[in-house]
Amino acid sequence: MGKEIQWNDQVDVLIVGSGFAGLTAAIEACESGKDVVIIEKMKRAGGNSVISDGGIAAPGTKLQKKRGIEDSEKMMYDDMLKAGLGLNHPNLLRTVVSNARGAFEWTLDALDVPYLDRVDIFGGHSVPRCYTPEGVTGGTILKKLLQKVDELGIPILYSTSFRSIMTDEQGHVTGGNVLKEYDYKTDTGIPAKIKTKRGIILASGGYGADVPFRSIQDPRLDETIQTTNKPFATAEVLRAALSINAASVQLSHIQLGAWSSPDEHGFGHGPLFADYILFQYGMIVDPHTGERFVNELGDRKQSADAILRTGHPCIGIADDRSVKYSGWDISKAIRKGVVRTFDSVDDLAAFYDMNTAVLQASIGRYNGFVQKGTDDDFQKPIVDDASPIENAPFYAMRLWPKVHFTMGGLSINERSQVLDFSGNTVDGLYAAGEVVGGVHGASRLGSCAITECIVFGRISGQNI
Ligand SMILES: Cc1cc2nc3c(=O)[nH]c(=O)nc-3n(C[C@H](O)[C@H](O)[C@H](O)COP(=O)(O)OP(=O)(O)OC[C@H]3O[C@@H](n4cnc5c(N)ncnc54)[C@H](O)[C@@H]3O)c2cc1C
Repeated sequence: MGKEIQWNDQVDVLIVGSGFAGLTAAIEACESGKDVVIIEKMKRAGGNSVISDGGIAAPGTKLQKKRGIEDSEKMMYDDMLKAGLGLNHPNLLRTVVSNARGAFEWTLDALDVPYLDRVDIFGGHSVPRCYTPEGVTGGTILKKLLQKVDELGIPILYSTSFRSIMTDEQGHVTGGNVLKEYDYKTDTGIPAKIKTKRGIILASGGYGADVPFRSIQDPRLDETIQTTNKPFATAEVLRAALSINAASVQLSHIQLGAWSSPDEHGFGHGPLFADYILFQYGMIVDPHTGERFVNELGDRKQSADAILRTGHPCIGIADDRSVKYSGWDISKAIRKGVVRTFDSVDDLAAFYDMNTAVLQASIGRYNGFVQKGTDDDFQKPIVDDASPIENAPFYAMRLWPKVHFTMGGLSINERSQVLDFSGNTVDGLYAAGEVVGGVHGASRLGSCAITECIVFGRISGQNI
């Protein structure tokens, strides 16, 4: 007989991580009658969720209908599959897409999240289906989730780091080893063991800031490539699951955001201009040639890889009409010098050391495509409200990709149960959110991560 384990705490369900996936899972698990505890290694909640833009995608919503936008689950499925290069696990993709509208409505009905009265389109989506919370921040959704968690009396144990999964001889999850009073800087704390009656939901996010882990998977992504993620977006929980034989999926598929600026750290303010205005209404040129080289509304993989291939930051350009028409406030990006304004195309060309005549010709050619509604060079979908780039001031931003999202992660089934390499469930282990792999295949479309977090957060909490 082995030595009896000295448990420090006991719960029905232990949830690791306090981002969108973990908080959603906690709410659902609690509302279905379980005794739940959330642990969070940092001193406050939110992970990458709180710094996100909060954009969530769903087809067939009232907001779309109000604007006459025709959309369907099939169209969203096809868009995500196309961007994912067909590598998306169909059962997981179908689960996300068929529950997307329900997830979005849950944030409205159960959480009362306030959204802006607009529907946006981002690269790779065939129609506008992305909803942005007030303030253009995930903080708006997080606040509402935390309010609900508080109302339900679910404890969040901060500064508590999850270290390893405990199993019995049959491989059933029995609990977890954690470090309480965890000090992130020294990676130390007081060891404790939490026993779980029903199991553990891993919602620890992605590994975008884990340079050793990510560069083993994709050697381009060493420390010279910045990330939009929080520095603590690391892979230790994923490693813990792998060490008990959970299966990994597509860990080398790591997304770079093409809308990032090398002129600021982290996510910053530039992406609001690049992703919400420039890619729809403007164009990107290689400053060495002065010419376009990519479909600005391609999915993130296409655009980021194309920029990386040039070997240097590229220049995104939009005009005053587009900026005003979009309604977005990009004053912070301008104040920080991330987005620059120019009175003429000549001034813009001179500033970035480009040949003016070539740049003028590139803009003229692009404007011709806008006027006729088809892009003969790169097949960019010309949106209905597009207009030629011709009104000063002209706005420009340097673009250089940063690690943004990790498509790879743990293998799960439609019920959010973690699978091993034989396809069997790991008894008592669930996962949701960015720690999961397989939904997005080779490339995630904008706003689809938050949809995934809410969908599988809910499913894991209901099923465990
Ligand atoms: C700047 C930025 C903008 C984005 N904008 C959007 C957007 O508009 N729309 C969209 O769909 N997606 C967006 N994304 C992606 C999306 O925000 C994330 O994929 C999603 O929020 C991840 O949620 P999560 O709950 O899985 O993980 P997270 O929100 O990262 O939460 C994971 C939590 O687990 C904790 N944790 C990790 N390890 C441990 C451990 N060992 N012990 C205890 N706790 C641990 C972390 O500290 C963290 O708090 C954005 C991402 C970034 C970085």
